[in-house]
Amino acid sequence: MTPINETKNSARPQTQPAATGESIALHAPLAGWLTALSDVPDPVFSGYVLGHGIAIDPFESVLKAPCDGVVTVAHRARHAVTLRLANGAEVLLHVGLDTVALAGEGFTLHVAEGQAVKTGDPLISFDMDILAHKARSLLVPIIVLGEDYTLSAMAPGRQVAAGEVLFTVSPAGTAPAEAAPQAAGPVLTREFRIDDPDGIHARPAGLIADAVKGFKARIIFHAHDKEADARSPVKLMLLGLGGGDAVRVTAAGGDAEAALAAIGAVIAGFADGKAPSPVPAAGTSIAETPLRPAFASHERIDITGVQAVSGLATGKAVRFAQEEISVPEAGAGVDVELERLRLALEASRQDLDGEIEAARPHNRQQMEILKAHLSFLDDVDLLGAAQTLIDQGKSAGFAWKSAAGQQAAALKRLGSARLAERAVDLLDVERRVLMALAGKSRAGTDLPAGTILLAGDLLPSQLTGMDTSRLAGLCLAEGGPTSHVAILAASLGIPTLVAMGPDLARVPDGTPLILDADHQRLQVNPLPELLSATAAKIEKRQARLALAKSRAAEDCHTACGRRIEVVANLASPADALLAVANGAEGCGLLRSEFLFLNRDTAPSEEEQLAQYQTVADSLEGRPLIIRTLDAGADKVLPYLGLPRETNPALGLRGVRTGIWKPETLRTQLRAILRVQPYGQCRIMVPMVATIDELRTVRTMLDEERRTLGQDKPISLGVMVEVPSAAVMADVFAKECDFFSIGTNDLTQYTLAMDRMNPHLAKRVDAFDPAVLRLIAQAAAAATANGRWTGVCGGLASIPLAAPVLIGLGVTELSTTAATVPEVKEMVRSLSLERCQAVAREALSQESAEAVHRLLSSYWPEV
Ligand code: PEP
Ligand code: MG
Repeated sequence: MTPINETKNSARPQTQPAATGESIALHAPLAGWLTALSDVPDPVFSGYVLGHGIAIDPFESVLKAPCDGVVTVAHRARHAVTLRLANGAEVLLHVGLDTVALAGEGFTLHVAEGQAVKTGDPLISFDMDILAHKARSLLVPIIVLGEDYTLSAMAPGRQVAAGEVLFTVSPAGTAPAEAAPQAAGPVLTREFRIDDPDGIHARPAGLIADAVKGFKARIIFHAHDKEADARSPVKLMLLGLGGGDAVRVTAAGGDAEAALAAIGAVIAGFADGKAPSPVPAAGTSIAETPLRPAFASHERIDITGVQAVSGLATGKAVRFAQEEISVPEAGAGVDVELERLRLALEASRQDLDGEIEAARPHNRQQMEILKAHLSFLDDVDLLGAAQTLIDQGKSAGFAWKSAAGQQAAALKRLGSARLAERAVDLLDVERRVLMALAGKSRAGTDLPAGTILLAGDLLPSQLTGMDTSRLAGLCLAEGGPTSHVAILAASLGIPTLVAMGPDLARVPDGTPLILDADHQRLQVNPLPELLSATAAKIEKRQARLALAKSRAAEDCHTACGRRIEVVANLASPADALLAVANGAEGCGLLRSEFLFLNRDTAPSEEEQLAQYQTVADSLEGRPLIIRTLDAGADKVLPYLGLPRETNPALGLRGVRTGIWKPETLRTQLRAILRVQPYGQCRIMVPMVATIDELRTVRTMLDEERRTLGQDKPISLGVMVEVPSAAVMADVFAKECDFFSIGTNDLTQYTLAMDRMNPHLAKRVDAFDPAVLRLIAQAAAAATANGRWTGVCGGLASIPLAAPVLIGLGVTELSTTAATVPEVKEMVRSLSLERCQAVAREALSQESAEAVHRLLSSYWPEV
């Protein structure tokens, strides 16, 4: 959602039509299993947000009219139809759940809007096979929209034949209330853009109507020369709002402001497919939507989030305020507007060139992100779409904003968290050009020293545009840990939490804060004693870090002489240099996805070889473990043609993708086998769950090796990140050369908690004894079979985890490049005997919190 601008006026809202007339029987539109609406696994239906009714799990594939009526909405995705009955009731028939996302695939619509139909006339045919594979559910909810009608009793939980009477619909008997009393107060207007590519269909319409229920203001949506009361889902759907469309919303009444904020929050939620939450969209200030009261100075609150950059900071809250740029829709003539756009693009190009040069010597990540932004300015699709709109008489600003907005919405639609994060980059470029068009300077925000910045989300340029030396920390209500703004914050060493949710908006400017990114929490209004103790802790920590850095290049042994290799996780060739500079003794995990993401075709063998060779060379002979492609789940690669999955994290992920597309895996194996010198590279297989998967990869590897004339075997490891691999580690250990524990996924799959779900972020904790016990099992099996065990998941980057992992038998820790010195320093302070004692104690704890308490009691300073 993008709030575009806000004005005050005196629009006269409409009200809903009255319910009149007789009772009408509704017949089953198809045969199937009759299911209570409350059992439909979608809160919009089960929570009666749209209205009351029933659902059918269909046995047949033609949906027929349940009674006579007129088609008022035939959805353009062909999955839903709304009928108006003779008594005025509107009945929605919706085939499947989330089927709007199929964009019509598998559906044939037999009716058009405005058409009169008779009971039993076919409305929609659908392909059961396609829906069974691609839709979340086949259930067909049949809903009488709104609250103005009563429905007779229904008897779900049984089979029903097509044409059988389901229930009758009668007017409630009282004239419906006005949409809302005409309350005294301001009339506000705000514009929003619908970022959800599917637009306002049944589900979003229901959510909007539900969100405004509690407000007194009259709220009207205006778009495409039509108006709709926000309390009417049908009217909202009839507006025909598609992805990227702008909608003007007027609210009249004392709580108009809060109602608009609530609508904005709901619309913002659609874009990410998330439950609506009162959190603004990327690049917005959080100051706009304080739906609940601000925290008072005596309220000591912890707000949790997801760690994007580790660290501890104290400081005062500064809420990010973003200046809105309004654009007129109408242009001043095609030539004038084209010239304006050309000049603004040119000015933006020059700005970006200057910023790239400024970043080049000291911040490679920033430079690469800016280069990506530069490429958007020459994107032919984007420029073409803007030009088309200018040709239609729109202003340069309107055209650019619409074109960029639509492409950003399309990126979000791909359903990948990573691509959705790239949409933020596009919006950043959108804003840069709009600023140039408006002749505004991009002067940075003035910040006091020790600022902890709070924002809805930030655009990368908004972060780099401020004096980051004054930033002690960064807290985002939205955002993801792999977004560019998070990467930039990491490159600048700013402790950062993301996905913190709506409570962040309740923290007033100037509030004292402790940002403890390592424990994923922001402490609001901490006691003064805690503040000063934390400041002292930070000072000591900085001194320790400086010492660790000065010894980073030295070998790593425990105090009793046990060799522990501390290596780094890399995600691109550029990371290798930083890792070596930080003392990494090699690479324990090269996430080869970097080569496969954000492109239209798979990289060729030569392309892969060149990149792997660059990494190998940068490591100057140190070992390099390349993980084969870990596609699937949130790493969407459209060109692989993976089927749409209900549960991608449990679907064709990791090694399963490689076995599904053997040529992709074989190409990668050949590229790795060709890296010189032979033997510097080792190969690691992600997401292995069963021994046959390992055997299949081993066979492919041996065949490719022989084809290349190489008779010396290459080291082949298994990532232990699925519980079954840990449980069966004794079997795996006989057929692989090493284990590397992927604690991120091992935790996700052991606890059945989605690692990307911000609501679970705090609980997806690799210190959980269940996870530690699986690591112990895997490491013991490796040792018994003469293999070694490393850890490449996030747990290895936490210095406090080192004693436990070493005590469990781990001999290699693969950490982020930045944490190598700290982890090495920790290892040097340990003895094997102590590690084993601590590990034993950790395994006997009953929860992750207990393990944290245990470790903090032994190492209070860490
Ligand atoms: C892991 O799961 O711990 C891991 C290292 O792999 P990724 O985070 O890339 O899934
Ligand atoms: Mg993993």
